[in-house]
Amino acid sequence: MIHSNNMKRKDFLKTGMAAGLGAFLPISQKKSSPSPIIGKARNIIFFAYDGFTWEDFSSAQHFSHRNFGKPLHLEKLFRTGSAGSMQSHSLTSMVTDSAAATSAWATGRKIVNGSLSIYPDGDELTTILELAKAKGKATGIISNTTITHATPGGWIAKQINRRDEENIAEQYAEFKADVMIGGGIEAFSPQLRSDGNDLYKPLLDSGYSVITDREAFANVRSDKILATFNEGHIPYEIDRRFRGAVSPTLNEMAKKGIEILDGSENGFLLHIEAGRIDHANHRNDAGAALWEIFAADETLGMLMDYVDKTPETVLIMASDHGTGGASVYGVGERYRASSDVHDLLNRRTASFPWIMSQLGNSPDTDLIIDMIEDTTGVLVSLSDAELLQQAIAGEIQMPDAAAFPRQPIATLGWILKGGTNDNPTHLNINYGTTQHTAGAVPAAVYGNGVEVKPFGLVDNTDFFYWMTEAMVIEHQNPEMSPEKAASFYE
Ligand code: ZN
Ligand code: MG
Ligand code: ZN
Repeated sequence: MIHSNNMKRKDFLKTGMAAGLGAFLPISQKKSSPSPIIGKARNIIFFAYDGFTWEDFSSAQHFSHRNFGKPLHLEKLFRTGSAGSMQSHSLTSMVTDSAAATSAWATGRKIVNGSLSIYPDGDELTTILELAKAKGKATGIISNTTITHATPGGWIAKQINRRDEENIAEQYAEFKADVMIGGGIEAFSPQLRSDGNDLYKPLLDSGYSVITDREAFANVRSDKILATFNEGHIPYEIDRRFRGAVSPTLNEMAKKGIEILDGSENGFLLHIEAGRIDHANHRNDAGAALWEIFAADETLGMLMDYVDKTPETVLIMASDHGTGGASVYGVGERYRASSDVHDLLNRRTASFPWIMSQLGNSPDTDLIIDMIEDTTGVLVSLSDAELLQQAIAGEIQMPDAAAFPRQPIATLGWILKGGTNDNPTHLNINYGTTQHTAGAVPAAVYGNGVEVKPFGLVDNTDFFYWMTEAMVIEHQNPEMSPEKAASFYE
């Protein structure tokens, strides 16, 4: 029965694909929009904000003005650089994942979600980082996720399955970007790799500083570096700030990267990722997302200062897609209470994973209520506490659970979002999903000694052509049709 339902569904999709031929084609994947970067760039810094929407920007922007009395660097970038919006559909879906999204930036081609710079038939694409290296430029990748995660990965690795981070690390050890800094010792360490291979060694042997501790990182002077911290991702900024989690900040990692690449003979191409905005938004964790945006913003300020004093340098900022569909909604008469209610974000002092780790496997409702009030400033009802208690026990009772598959943590998000107009005891941010979303996302270009122009609405593949043009590189990757790509998954 289930099988035949699947068949029907598949047939329907097939028919749909054939009938609406070009279901994914109305937006050209061939033609690049005119580049907003006028002239040559010696250095390019590409700063990815993973899972960041215009709505997330508004939330952080207003919070910053009200609580810190200053604008975000991002606001300055959007006002003084050249801003626009970017569309992000992948080869076979209107909703992209991070792997296809980063591959579009890095190769100028749409691919299938879940793969890195490769087509399903194994045909590999050449990445912008490879092209820059071949041109004699220094190269780097930095992220506060595992360094072998999808977003940095797509700039170097060719992988059908983005989750094979051990193989991605092998490809890094071969490619040898000058700078590789992020989380994720487990993909390199012989103690933690499934094959027991030591991937630090080949890099040590070729003159890299290989670093896994924070103090050594602060003091290192080197022209090649592999720095990996923590098993897994770099901890959330909110937990570093308020819960004593120990790690370098994104800004410290980016600064080190710039320090190493600055003055490279033929310039450099550096990819930096603020990768955990996405993770926080997947969990509908508005507090963690806010602090990830601030961590990115501190980094952005540093990068803009660097560009200001470094001629022939271009900074590109772009989100790869939306995540979670957060909306900040109006509260009160004439919506006048909106900002006050939004200031409840001030009371968030731990990430959702941190809260869940404290609750354990079978918390009583008193613990749940107290813990949530301590870490979010919200007094949840007994029935909401029971909802979370049930979710932790594996019985998901929250309404509309299908759109929120990341459980039990999504239930925590759910009970924190339920404010009303008249009684705004909860934060006025509603999340629509725990998945990625399709809408156009923020992007901007900022330059010194290189003119930049506003660019309106562009496609994620366009960035590849902007970068190759600015670095005077000629390259076109092979194309695959959505229909052919889809045929591999029938
Ligand atoms: Zn992403
Ligand atoms: Mg990412
Ligand atoms: Zn994501």
